[in-house]
Amino acid sequence: MIVLKAADLTKSYGSTPALQGASLEVERGEILALMGPSGSGKSTMLHCLAGIFKPDSGEVWFEGRRVDTMGDRERTALRRTAFGFVFQFGQLVPELTAADNIALPLLLDGVRRRTAYAKAGDWFARLGLEGLEGRRMGELSGGQAQRVAVGRALVTGPAVLFADEPTGALDSLTSENVMDLLVDTVRAEGSTVVLVTHDARVAAHADRRVTVRDGKVVSGVRV
Ligand code: ADP
Ligand code: MG
Repeated sequence: MIVLKAADLTKSYGSTPALQGASLEVERGEILALMGPSGSGKSTMLHCLAGIFKPDSGEVWFEGRRVDTMGDRERTALRRTAFGFVFQFGQLVPELTAADNIALPLLLDGVRRRTAYAKAGDWFARLGLEGLEGRRMGELSGGQAQRVAVGRALVTGPAVLFADEPTGALDSLTSENVMDLLVDTVRAEGSTVVLVTHDARVAAHADRRVTVRDGKVVSGVRV
């Protein structure tokens, strides 16, 4: 069953074309890697699929709903309720503790404080971060911070997790550990993943890999 679909997307930044007729279908429960060289359009594709950017033309569909024509409010609500995000860095609030950061999407969603912190607390054992609930983000290692980012992305139980170079700032051993955690956790949660990476070792964790080149999806491999 197709959960997410992009058809013939185009998008330019001024005179720079980023997407030039990119199409993609993502199956429910799969971990899909978008690979390709820097500048090929991977991040732009992810942002269009996630309803963060509107494509100039083409269509984006999520569970039978047209995303690219939604108004800002509806897209914001969709992102909050159905999607989770892990980026290379910068998505966590440095002044807040690890527990605050994981609880934040629930609080934004109107969940009561006690419930939000109880739910956030449950994630620390799963993330291998027991005892670090009260640490500020600046007091965590890069790998620990990305584990918190994974928890924050999944705490709301999103249908789709979007990850853009999630281990791009980590050394290779830490990167492997974070990817193992991410994969185990999304399998347990039943989420679908769209993962952008230019690193073959990271993409090796995916069920399927597709290549983006010059703003088009040019090939796919299923394992
Ligand atoms: P990738 O993630 O594969 O590295 P991007 O989607 O970020 O590729 O970028 C695709 C193309 O769009 C590149 O040529 C890039 O330079 C350009 N681009 C991306 N973001 C911007 C932006 N904010 N302003 C101008 N050009 C951009
Ligand atoms: Mg990118």
